[in-house]
Amino acid sequence: MPIQSSRISGFHKLSMPDRLAKVIEVAGLDSAVEAQLSNTGNLDAAVVDSMIENAIGTMNIPLGIATNMIVDGEDVLIPMATEESSVVAAVCNAARQCRDSGGFITSLSGSLMIAQVQLIDVKNPEFARLQILENKDRIREVCDETDPVLLKHGGGYRDIEVRVLEGGRTGSMVITHLIVDTRDAMGANAVNSMAEAVAPLIAQWTGGRTYLRILSNLADRRLARARATWSLDAIGGESVRDGILSAFDFADIDPYRAATHNKGVMNGVSAVVLATGNDTRAVEAGAHAYAARSGQYRSLTRWEVDQEGNLTGMIEMPMAVGLIGGATKSHPTARVALDVMNTRTAEKLARVIAAVGLAQNFSALKALATTGIQKGHMALHAKNIAVMAGATGPEIDTVARELVEGGKVRVDIAEEILARLRG
Ligand code: NAD
Repeated sequence: MPIQSSRISGFHKLSMPDRLAKVIEVAGLDSAVEAQLSNTGNLDAAVVDSMIENAIGTMNIPLGIATNMIVDGEDVLIPMATEESSVVAAVCNAARQCRDSGGFITSLSGSLMIAQVQLIDVKNPEFARLQILENKDRIREVCDETDPVLLKHGGGYRDIEVRVLEGGRTGSMVITHLIVDTRDAMGANAVNSMAEAVAPLIAQWTGGRTYLRILSNLADRRLARARATWSLDAIGGESVRDGILSAFDFADIDPYRAATHNKGVMNGVSAVVLATGNDTRAVEAGAHAYAARSGQYRSLTRWEVDQEGNLTGMIEMPMAVGLIGGATKSHPTARVALDVMNTRTAEKLARVIAAVGLAQNFSALKALATTGIQKGHMALHAKNIAVMAGATGPEIDTVARELVEGGKVRVDIAEEILARLRG
């Protein structure tokens, strides 16, 4: 039944329980919904209400732990928040198969974020560009005055670059990049405030009009890198290796394949980003923009063969994550996730996440190049199908097992099995 109207005046001013009651009334839902949504699980209702607007409850996602990871010589447990089966298992499997070769080696290019200030309505944009560059020192002062706390933590302004972009309805525009070290913060709010503080000065120096003042999610000065070697013995020989290489070649030359290839990488990356309370959209936007930096959308990973014939994998991608700000501090589970990882710096977090992305990609390519993705996927997915069919408690495992044994993981078959089990 369509709702009467989505215009609910004063909705944001209601308490969370009153908002929920209002939604139940307007959407014509039954009262069981209230019990479902008023339980906010391990996130205090007051925290929920302070985190976003118009909150009515929470949406819980499973938190799993990927085992077997060695990153830079240290064993690390990986917290992963995901609704998709197979994602955690994929990381465990990939990590197990490269443990004997030492696991993952990682690095970070730096913790620099870019804020953009857009200047329009300038007749002589190249001239304006130099006027801005001449004022580097003043820009530094303004940025550092804007965030003394960041300065105290060793961060702050590092540099500027100014680009003249042609085209658009207002003619050329002059784009100033503030390059800021945001240390243990993801840094969006930090650099946005700086861009807003610097913009009026840019307008004043050049006689133009400043417009947008916001960070770029193409965080290409914050690149996390990871590499690992999988021995031929560990992966099952040359044919598996060559299958993985061919799968990589396919992704690197075909955007249709690259989108799915990188989606697999992000299965791992986004799960850790979410588990640690970081901004999944920020990291995803950065990843995909970086993958397309050559003008063609390509693979975020690269795969080669070393001198002994072993398989080597590499990943390099923007990784704007932090330990301060956003939900990283306010969500208690995010704080626990960092403890599980024994991670005390944003740098380590970014590096571990890159390793997880590479691990995920290894498992996906190996499955695709050998048995196909559905075999492993369906075994885990069968449990979801069993639940969809109405199985509860111990029925879930029984139905899932029968589905897998029968080779057809479908909800109609799950319903038949369940009906039989229940007599
Ligand atoms: P924030 O402003 O909450 O915290 C960062 C601040 O913490 C710094 O500016 C600094 O003053 C202080 N700080 C204390 N100790 C620090 C340390 N050791 N290292 C660095 N800073 C320290 O958060 P933020 O990281 O600036 O912003 C992240 C939030 O912004 C996320 O929630 C994100 O979703 C949101 N956001 C994202 C976008 C985008 O990606 N396009 C845009 C706007 C907002």
